[in-house]
Amino acid sequence: MIRLILAGLGALLIAVAGFVGFRTFSFVAPPPPAAVEIAESSSYAVDASAAAVRLGEAIRFRTVSLVSDGEDRAQFEQFHAWMQQRYPAFHAAARREIVGELSLLYTWTGSDAAQPPIILLAHQDVVPVPDDTRQNWTVDPFGGLVRDNAVWGRGAIDDKGSLISILEAAEFLARQGRQPVRTIIFAFGHDEEIGGEGGAVLMARLLAERGVRAWFVLDEGMAALERHPLTGAPAAMIGISERGSGTMRVRAVGQPGHSSMPPRETAVSLAAEAVNRIHDMPIERGLEGGPALGMMRALAPELTLTNRMAVSNEWLFGPMLRQRMAGNPAAQALMGTTIAPTMINGGSRPNVLPGEAIAMINFRIHPRDQSADLLRRARQAVADLDGVTVDWSEEPREASSISSTTSSSYALLAALSGDILPDAPVAPGLVLAGTDSRHYSEVAENVYRYQPIMLTAEDLEMPHGLNERISVDNLDRMIRFYIGLMEAGAMQ
Ligand SMILES: [Zn+2]
Repeated sequence: MIRLILAGLGALLIAVAGFVGFRTFSFVAPPPPAAVEIAESSSYAVDASAAAVRLGEAIRFRTVSLVSDGEDRAQFEQFHAWMQQRYPAFHAAARREIVGELSLLYTWTGSDAAQPPIILLAHQDVVPVPDDTRQNWTVDPFGGLVRDNAVWGRGAIDDKGSLISILEAAEFLARQGRQPVRTIIFAFGHDEEIGGEGGAVLMARLLAERGVRAWFVLDEGMAALERHPLTGAPAAMIGISERGSGTMRVRAVGQPGHSSMPPRETAVSLAAEAVNRIHDMPIERGLEGGPALGMMRALAPELTLTNRMAVSNEWLFGPMLRQRMAGNPAAQALMGTTIAPTMINGGSRPNVLPGEAIAMINFRIHPRDQSADLLRRARQAVADLDGVTVDWSEEPREASSISSTTSSSYALLAALSGDILPDAPVAPGLVLAGTDSRHYSEVAENVYRYQPIMLTAEDLEMPHGLNERISVDNLDRMIRFYIGLMEAGAMQ
C-alpha cells in the first residue's frame, strides 16, 4: 500500500514538474503583430548639436506652472513666439490654436480624413527650482547650457526635451515638403505639473467635441532603463496605464476634557487605531490585473531560469513571490494599490483631551482597484470604532484603463524603439506618477507613455530633482524616433 502511494506521489511530482517546466518555457510574449514599414532611423540627416542649442534656448524660458494669478505668463507667451520663429516650416504647414489661454493645439491635416489621427503630447510647463535646492545645482537651472555632451536645466527631460524633439521632427519633415496622409495632432499643455485642468482637460474636451477618435496618443511617462530592476539589463518600458490616486481623511471625535481621568479611547487613540487598520487592510497583489504580467512575459527571455519559473507558475510559487516582493517598494507599487498614511493631527496640549483628531492616508490606486470599493473596505475596517468617519478628502482619480500590447500602434512604437535602442527589449509598464495623457482616454483607442531615451539609475532622480539634463545622444534618439513615427505612422 505504502509503495503504491509513493508511486502515485512520484507520478504526481513528475507531472507537476513537467507542467512547471512547460509553463516556464512557454512563458514568452507572443511577437507583436506585423508593424508598418519603418525606415532605418540612422538614415535621417539630423543635426543633434544644433537641436541641443535650441533645447537650451527653450529651457531659458522660465515656464514654471502658474499656480496663482499674476504670475509670469509672459514667459509662456515669449516661448510661443520663439517656437514660431524657430520652426517656421512646421508653423506654415500646421494650424495652431491657443486653448485655455496658454496651451497649444496644432493640427497637421492629413490627406485622408478616414484615417484616425495620431495625437502627440508634451508639456510646456516645468516644476520650480526651490530656493533651498538652488545651491546644489552645478549650473544655472534656467541657463540652458550645453556642456559635456548634454543639455542642462529644468525641463531638459521633463518635458521640454520631448516638446523640442517633436517640433524638430515635424520641422525636419515639413521643410522637405512632406505632407501627412493621416492627421497628426500636437497638444502641448501648460499646466501638466499641477494637474492639467486648464490645459490637457480643455484640449481633450475640444477634440471630443470635434468627434476625434485617435489611433493612439503618445506622451511622456516611461523610458528605456539601462538596468531594469528585474533583469539587470536594458529594457524599453512603454507605459500602458497609470495609477490613480486619492487621499482618505479619517476623522475621530472624542470627549474633550482633562486627561487626568480619561475615557478608554480618546480622539487620538481612535484616529491612530483607524489609521493602522486602514493601513493594514488586505490589498490584492499579483501579476494579473495590470501591466505586470505582460512586462514579465516580455522580459522573460532575459530573466534567470529560477525567476522565470517562479513568475510563469504563479499558481504554485505565488505565496513565495508575494513574500519576496513584500520588501520591495517598486514591486509592491507595480502589483497592487499602495497605502501611505501621511498626516495626523489632533490636540494642542499634552494634558488636554482633544475633541477631534484628523489623519490623511494617501492611496495610489492600481488598475485592478476602484476608489469606491477601497472606501467601502476602509469604512468596514473601522466600522466598530465609535466616533470615526472616513471619506475621500476630494474626488479621487481612478487608475487609467489599460492600453493594448497587441495593437498596431503598440507594434509601431515597439519597432521604432527597437531600431533606435536595439539592446533594449520592449516591455509594457505601469506609470507610477500621473501625466497629461490620462485626460485623453476618451479620444483615443490606446494611450501610450514613452520617451525613447536610455536612462541610468542616476538619471531617474533628475526629473523634478537636481542637475536635470539630457544627453545629446538621447535628444538625437528622440528626434529620430518622432521622425520615424510621423513618417511610418502618418505619411504612407
Ligand atoms: Zn512631465
